[in-house]
Amino acid sequence: MKTIGIIGGMSPESTVLYYQTINRETNRRLGGNRSADIVMHSVDFETIAAMQRKGAWDEAGKALAQSAQKLESIGAEALVLATNTMHKVAPFIEAAVRVPLIHIVDATADAVKKRGFGKVGLLGTKFTMSDGFYTARMAEAGVETPVPSENVQNEIHRIIFEELCLNKISAASKTYYYQTIEDLKKQGAEGVILGCTEIGLLVDAADCPLPVFDSAEIHALAAVDFALNDGAV
Ligand code: GLU
Repeated sequence: MKTIGIIGGMSPESTVLYYQTINRETNRRLGGNRSADIVMHSVDFETIAAMQRKGAWDEAGKALAQSAQKLESIGAEALVLATNTMHKVAPFIEAAVRVPLIHIVDATADAVKKRGFGKVGLLGTKFTMSDGFYTARMAEAGVETPVPSENVQNEIHRIIFEELCLNKISAASKTYYYQTIEDLKKQGAEGVILGCTEIGLLVDAADCPLPVFDSAEIHALAAVDFALNDGAV
Protein backbone atom coordinates (compact mmCIF):
# COMPACT_ATOMS: atom_id res chain seq x y z
CA MET A 1 0.00 0.00 0.00
CA LYS A 2 1.32 3.41 -0.92
CA THR A 3 1.27 6.49 1.31
CA ILE A 4 -1.20 9.20 0.28
CA GLY A 5 -0.38 12.83 1.07
CA ILE A 6 -3.40 15.10 1.52
CA ILE A 7 -3.05 18.86 1.19
CA GLY A 8 -6.17 19.77 3.12
CA GLY A 9 -7.99 22.46 5.02
CA MET A 10 -9.68 24.06 1.99
CA SER A 11 -12.02 23.82 3.70
CA PRO A 12 -11.63 21.50 6.71
CA GLU A 13 -15.27 20.45 6.25
CA SER A 14 -14.42 18.65 3.02
CA THR A 15 -11.01 17.39 4.14
CA VAL A 16 -12.90 15.31 6.70
CA LEU A 17 -14.79 13.68 3.82
CA TYR A 18 -11.53 12.77 2.07
CA TYR A 19 -10.08 11.24 5.22
CA GLN A 20 -13.24 9.24 5.87
CA THR A 21 -13.79 8.11 2.28
CA ILE A 22 -10.17 7.02 1.76
CA ASN A 23 -10.13 5.03 4.99
CA ARG A 24 -13.57 3.47 4.54
CA GLU A 25 -12.87 2.46 0.94
CA THR A 26 -9.48 1.01 1.89
CA ASN A 27 -11.16 -1.04 4.58
CA ARG A 28 -13.96 -2.11 2.23
CA ARG A 29 -11.38 -3.43 -0.24
CA LEU A 30 -8.93 -5.00 2.20
CA GLY A 31 -11.11 -6.04 5.14
CA GLY A 32 -10.20 -6.63 8.76
CA ASN A 33 -9.01 -3.48 10.46
CA ARG A 34 -7.10 -2.27 7.43
CA SER A 35 -7.02 1.49 6.89
CA ALA A 36 -5.11 3.85 4.65
CA ASP A 37 -1.55 5.10 5.08
CA ILE A 38 -2.03 8.89 5.05
CA VAL A 39 0.02 11.97 5.81
CA MET A 40 -1.73 15.34 5.79
CA HIS A 41 -0.97 19.02 5.94
CA SER A 42 -4.05 21.10 6.72
CA VAL A 43 -3.63 24.79 5.97
CA ASP A 44 -5.37 27.77 7.59
CA PHE A 45 -8.14 28.26 5.03
CA GLU A 46 -8.50 32.02 5.56
CA THR A 47 -4.89 32.54 4.46
CA ILE A 48 -5.59 30.80 1.16
CA ALA A 49 -9.08 32.32 0.71
CA ALA A 50 -7.60 35.83 1.17
CA MET A 51 -5.04 35.11 -1.57
CA GLN A 52 -7.88 33.95 -3.85
CA ARG A 53 -9.85 37.16 -3.21
CA LYS A 54 -6.90 39.39 -4.10
CA GLY A 55 -5.92 37.26 -7.10
CA ALA A 56 -2.56 36.32 -5.55
CA TRP A 57 -2.49 32.95 -7.28
CA ASP A 58 1.30 32.72 -7.56
CA GLU A 59 1.62 33.32 -3.83
CA ALA A 60 -1.01 30.65 -3.16
CA GLY A 61 0.75 28.28 -5.55
CA LYS A 62 4.03 28.74 -3.69
CA ALA A 63 2.34 28.15 -0.32
CA LEU A 64 0.74 24.91 -1.53
CA ALA A 65 4.00 23.83 -3.17
CA GLN A 66 5.60 24.11 0.29
CA SER A 67 2.84 21.91 1.74
CA ALA A 68 3.52 19.38 -0.99
CA GLN A 69 7.24 19.36 -0.21
CA LYS A 70 6.54 18.82 3.49
CA LEU A 71 4.38 15.83 2.67
CA GLU A 72 6.89 14.40 0.23
CA SER A 73 9.64 14.75 2.85
CA ILE A 74 7.66 12.60 5.31
CA GLY A 75 6.90 9.82 2.86
CA ALA A 76 3.93 10.78 0.65
CA GLU A 77 4.09 8.75 -2.56
CA ALA A 78 1.28 10.67 -4.28
CA LEU A 79 -0.49 13.91 -3.47
CA VAL A 80 -4.15 14.80 -3.28
CA LEU A 81 -5.03 18.50 -3.26
CA ALA A 82 -8.41 18.38 -1.56
CA THR A 83 -10.05 21.31 -3.37
CA ASN A 84 -11.10 21.95 -6.95
CA THR A 85 -10.38 25.68 -6.92
CA MET A 86 -6.75 25.38 -5.94
CA HIS A 87 -6.06 23.08 -8.87
CA LYS A 88 -5.75 26.41 -10.65
CA VAL A 89 -2.22 26.38 -9.18
CA ALA A 90 -1.56 22.66 -9.66
CA PRO A 91 1.48 23.39 -11.91
CA PHE A 92 3.28 25.02 -8.93
CA ILE A 93 2.85 21.80 -6.94
CA GLU A 94 3.80 19.53 -9.81
CA ALA A 95 7.00 21.51 -10.36
CA ALA A 96 7.99 21.34 -6.67
CA VAL A 97 7.85 17.58 -6.02
CA ARG A 98 8.80 14.29 -7.68
CA VAL A 99 5.70 12.36 -6.61
CA PRO A 100 2.55 12.51 -8.76
CA LEU A 101 -0.39 14.83 -8.09
CA ILE A 102 -3.66 12.97 -8.55
CA HIS A 103 -5.55 15.67 -10.46
CA ILE A 104 -9.19 16.22 -9.48
CA VAL A 105 -10.30 17.20 -12.99
CA ASP A 106 -8.79 14.09 -14.56
CA ALA A 107 -10.40 11.81 -11.98
CA THR A 108 -13.78 13.51 -12.43
CA ALA A 109 -13.57 13.46 -16.24
CA ASP A 110 -12.83 9.72 -16.11
CA ALA A 111 -15.91 9.14 -13.93
CA VAL A 112 -18.13 11.14 -16.31
CA LYS A 113 -16.84 9.28 -19.36
CA LYS A 114 -17.21 5.89 -17.66
CA ARG A 115 -20.89 6.77 -17.27
CA GLY A 116 -21.02 7.46 -21.03
CA PHE A 117 -21.78 11.19 -20.66
CA GLY A 118 -20.25 13.99 -22.73
CA LYS A 119 -22.07 17.07 -21.38
CA VAL A 120 -22.43 17.66 -17.64
CA GLY A 121 -23.20 20.85 -15.73
CA LEU A 122 -20.52 22.27 -13.44
CA LEU A 123 -21.09 23.86 -10.04
CA GLY A 124 -18.22 25.17 -7.96
CA THR A 125 -16.63 28.39 -6.80
CA LYS A 126 -16.70 31.29 -9.22
CA PHE A 127 -13.03 30.63 -9.94
CA THR A 128 -13.76 27.05 -10.92
CA MET A 129 -16.80 27.92 -13.03
CA SER A 130 -15.37 30.95 -14.83
CA ASP A 131 -11.56 30.87 -14.89
CA GLY A 132 -11.15 28.25 -17.59
CA PHE A 133 -8.52 26.11 -15.83
CA TYR A 134 -11.21 23.57 -15.01
CA THR A 135 -13.50 23.71 -18.06
CA ALA A 136 -10.58 23.73 -20.53
CA ARG A 137 -9.05 20.60 -18.98
CA MET A 138 -12.48 18.94 -19.06
CA ALA A 139 -12.90 19.91 -22.72
CA GLU A 140 -9.48 18.39 -23.50
CA ALA A 141 -10.74 15.18 -21.91
CA GLY A 142 -13.82 15.33 -24.17
CA VAL A 143 -16.32 16.55 -21.56
CA GLU A 144 -18.39 19.70 -22.13
CA THR A 145 -19.21 21.51 -18.88
CA PRO A 146 -21.91 24.20 -19.14
CA VAL A 147 -22.07 26.56 -16.15
CA PRO A 148 -24.80 28.84 -14.74
CA SER A 149 -25.11 32.55 -15.65
CA GLU A 150 -22.87 35.04 -13.86
CA ASN A 151 -25.48 36.12 -11.29
CA VAL A 152 -26.21 32.53 -10.38
CA GLN A 153 -22.47 31.77 -10.16
CA ASN A 154 -22.13 34.60 -7.63
CA GLU A 155 -24.81 33.09 -5.38
CA ILE A 156 -23.46 29.53 -5.72
CA HIS A 157 -20.02 30.91 -4.76
CA ARG A 158 -21.39 32.91 -1.80
CA ILE A 159 -23.14 29.86 -0.40
CA ILE A 160 -19.90 27.83 -0.61
CA PHE A 161 -17.81 30.32 1.37
CA GLU A 162 -20.41 31.74 3.78
CA GLU A 163 -22.22 28.49 4.49
CA LEU A 164 -20.81 25.15 3.30
CA CYS A 165 -17.18 25.79 4.27
CA LEU A 166 -18.50 26.56 7.77
CA ASN A 167 -20.80 23.52 7.84
CA LYS A 168 -23.98 25.63 7.65
CA ILE A 169 -26.56 23.64 5.73
CA SER A 170 -29.72 25.59 4.85
CA ALA A 171 -32.94 24.45 3.18
CA ALA A 172 -33.09 27.66 1.11
CA SER A 173 -29.61 27.06 -0.30
CA LYS A 174 -30.46 23.47 -1.07
CA THR A 175 -33.51 24.62 -3.06
CA TYR A 176 -31.36 27.20 -4.88
CA TYR A 177 -28.83 24.54 -5.90
CA TYR A 178 -31.55 22.14 -7.10
CA GLN A 179 -33.18 24.92 -9.16
CA THR A 180 -29.82 25.72 -10.72
CA ILE A 181 -29.27 22.05 -11.55
CA GLU A 182 -32.77 21.92 -13.07
CA ASP A 183 -31.80 24.85 -15.34
CA LEU A 184 -28.59 23.07 -16.39
CA LYS A 185 -30.72 20.03 -17.25
CA LYS A 186 -32.89 22.24 -19.51
CA GLN A 187 -29.66 23.28 -21.29
CA GLY A 188 -28.98 19.63 -22.12
CA ALA A 189 -26.71 18.58 -19.24
CA GLU A 190 -26.84 14.81 -18.69
CA GLY A 191 -25.41 15.03 -15.18
CA VAL A 192 -23.92 17.57 -12.78
CA ILE A 193 -20.41 17.81 -11.38
CA LEU A 194 -20.29 18.93 -7.75
CA GLY A 195 -17.05 20.70 -8.61
CA CYS A 196 -16.47 22.05 -5.16
CA THR A 197 -15.56 19.57 -2.48
CA GLU A 198 -18.18 20.90 0.00
CA ILE A 199 -21.24 20.75 -2.29
CA GLY A 200 -21.86 17.11 -1.40
CA LEU A 201 -22.74 18.35 2.10
CA LEU A 202 -25.76 20.15 0.58
CA VAL A 203 -26.80 18.26 -2.54
CA ASP A 204 -28.23 14.80 -2.04
CA ALA A 205 -27.90 12.51 -5.06
CA ALA A 206 -31.27 10.92 -4.25
CA ASP A 207 -33.16 14.27 -4.57
CA CYS A 208 -31.09 15.81 -7.34
CA PRO A 209 -32.70 16.41 -10.77
CA LEU A 210 -29.56 15.03 -12.52
CA PRO A 211 -27.07 12.22 -11.86
CA VAL A 212 -24.38 13.56 -9.54
CA PHE A 213 -20.58 13.42 -9.88
CA ASP A 214 -19.23 14.40 -6.46
CA SER A 215 -15.67 15.57 -7.02
CA ALA A 216 -14.58 14.97 -3.40
CA GLU A 217 -15.77 11.38 -3.43
CA ILE A 218 -14.42 10.63 -6.91
CA HIS A 219 -11.05 12.18 -6.06
CA ALA A 220 -10.76 10.29 -2.76
CA LEU A 221 -11.55 7.01 -4.53
CA ALA A 222 -8.91 7.77 -7.17
CA ALA A 223 -6.40 8.14 -4.34
CA VAL A 224 -7.35 4.69 -3.03
CA ASP A 225 -6.93 3.25 -6.53
CA PHE A 226 -3.43 4.68 -6.63
CA ALA A 227 -2.50 3.47 -3.14
CA LEU A 228 -3.72 -0.07 -3.61
CA ASN A 229 -2.92 -0.74 -7.24
CA ASP A 230 0.81 -1.01 -6.60
CA GLY A 231 0.84 -4.79 -6.46
CA ALA A 232 2.32 -4.71 -2.96
CA VAL A 233 -0.74 -4.45 -0.76
N1 GLU B 1 -13.33 23.28 -1.51
C1 GLU B 1 -13.72 24.17 -2.53
C2 GLU B 1 -13.38 23.64 -3.90
O1 GLU B 1 -13.41 22.44 -4.08
C3 GLU B 1 -13.65 25.62 -2.29
C4 GLU B 1 -12.64 26.10 -1.31
C5 GLU B 1 -11.43 26.64 -2.00
O2 GLU B 1 -11.52 27.73 -2.53
O3 GLU B 1 -10.41 25.96 -2.05
O4 GLU B 1 -13.15 24.37 -4.81
